[in-house]
Amino acid sequence: MILSILEYAVTCHPKEGILLLRGETKKNEIRIEEVEIPPLSTHGLGFSSFSPYMLPIDFSIIGTAHSHPSGVLRPSSTDMNKFYGRIMIIAAYPYRTERDIAVFDGEGKPIQYEIIND
Ligand SMILES: [Zn+2]
Repeated sequence: MILSILEYAVTCHPKEGILLLRGETKKNEIRIEEVEIPPLSTHGLGFSSFSPYMLPIDFSIIGTAHSHPSGVLRPSSTDMNKFYGRIMIIAAYPYRTERDIAVFDGEGKPIQYEIIND
């Protein structure tokens, strides 16, 4: 899963890439099971965006992942305005290992995560 995000980020570079995260949420646990490319996504040099209104109502989408070609490993204010779902994953350039990835909640605070099986 982490690897798919990193690989996708590499593919989109120097543009931003965005992915939807699918999975399950329990009380204190969010489990990501799948990543997918959103329909009608637009890749720009700014924020890569998609309209949540174009998506089917699908509660298995628990958040989004996107890349930061700038290498900054924290959400921008635009990111926070466009927060969708429960979590946001950011993959920062050079997208090599899980150290180039961070997970944030709706307030922009980093979330601890664990790789279960990748
Ligand atoms: Zn961003």
